[in-house]
Amino acid sequence: MESSRWVLVVALVIAIATVANADPARYDHFRLYRLLIQTQEQVEMLQQLEEQSDSYAFMGHARQPNQNLTIMVAPHKIAEITELLSRYELQGTILLYNMQNLIDREQSTIKPKNTPPEEFNWHFYHHLDTINAWLRLQLTRHSDLELIELGASYENQSLYGVKLAKNPANSAIFVECGIHAREWISPASCTFVLNELLTSDRADVRQLADSFNWIIFPVVNPDGYRYTFEGDRLWRKNTKPYGLCRGVDLNRNFASDWNGPGASSDPCRYDFAGGSEASEPETRALVRFLTENVEKLRIRTYFSIHSFSQLVMFPYGYKTDRVPNYDDLVAIGQKGVEAIERTHGTKYVSGAMIETIYPSSGDSVDWVYSALGIPVAYTFELRGPPDSTNMFVLPAEEIIPTAEELLAALVAMLGEGTRLGYYESDTNRQEL
Ligand SMILES: [Zn+2]
Repeated sequence: MESSRWVLVVALVIAIATVANADPARYDHFRLYRLLIQTQEQVEMLQQLEEQSDSYAFMGHARQPNQNLTIMVAPHKIAEITELLSRYELQGTILLYNMQNLIDREQSTIKPKNTPPEEFNWHFYHHLDTINAWLRLQLTRHSDLELIELGASYENQSLYGVKLAKNPANSAIFVECGIHAREWISPASCTFVLNELLTSDRADVRQLADSFNWIIFPVVNPDGYRYTFEGDRLWRKNTKPYGLCRGVDLNRNFASDWNGPGASSDPCRYDFAGGSEASEPETRALVRFLTENVEKLRIRTYFSIHSFSQLVMFPYGYKTDRVPNYDDLVAIGQKGVEAIERTHGTKYVSGAMIETIYPSSGDSVDWVYSALGIPVAYTFELRGPPDSTNMFVLPAEEIIPTAEELLAALVAMLGEGTRLGYYESDTNRQEL
């Protein structure tokens, strides 16, 4: 009797474990609201609301009057938010009535997990394994491409990237993608850019591939990325447990005013900064590689690719002081924005992080700029616009145009950086 009861318990435990994997988070009837905050009273109400309930997912924080904010509201809170908006005379529009519809629709644009790397393309989104297999395939096709394995994630998945180096004397450009798991357009755009650098016939792209060495990491948060396919499409962090909650926002985990404004010390929050500076294996792997190689490989430029909001931002994110080369970074960012608009008419905005989006501390771009002295460092927020109804679930037909815009921005920005002399010392070295 006793043993049969144990069999039942074991069977149930196995069943729950199986269900946990096969039963991803659902967002049926979750609504997206776009709010226009006008008064201090409204700011405080929204701050309290974010603090008190995880049934409201904030895309950013309420900070000040004259600010827009997107929030996602669980269905059982619709009546509450409707009453609150009315009581506080808060203007809001409903961007979307059912988040799950978007996620369901996206399923047909995801290639199956076992897709051979030869079938990799930019009309679909791809699983982590397919991206890594595609990277390995490129290594067999291009002798000037080298695999870099940075280390391993919390779940012991390798952090793979590649280096494309045609001339050891070139300055290097580091491209960090997929640090936020749900921003699928980031790895998709980065692999597109890599493919163009490898294969394009366009003179401006060829020049980019010849005059700079490229270090590209398509997915620096592999555990989180995998989890967005299997567990929760809207997951942002890595997956390491902290108490009852889990996941650290890796882009709040760097030693640039760590755990300051725009980061949380609560592990249940989407912008949890981690247990300490670089507490996460993914952050540590990046920090180690960059510290060791910033001089050796002459990494002079760093791009961190995110979505959404259509922004091209430079340091700082954690303080309002302007960086010493502020005017240059304004000029380079502006060239990027203009090139994007010329490509498909999409409007991006450029500026310092704290002036453009919201305060954020512990992010990679601030850290590489401040700690390593990489003078040209930008965070891209790709499509869609700030009031996007898709947020991170960008339709797959927008992958190629979005990535073309990114590539055009890189061409223009590195051109302007060259004109401003950022890569000159390396050219001199080349002549020696
Ligand atoms: Zn992001």
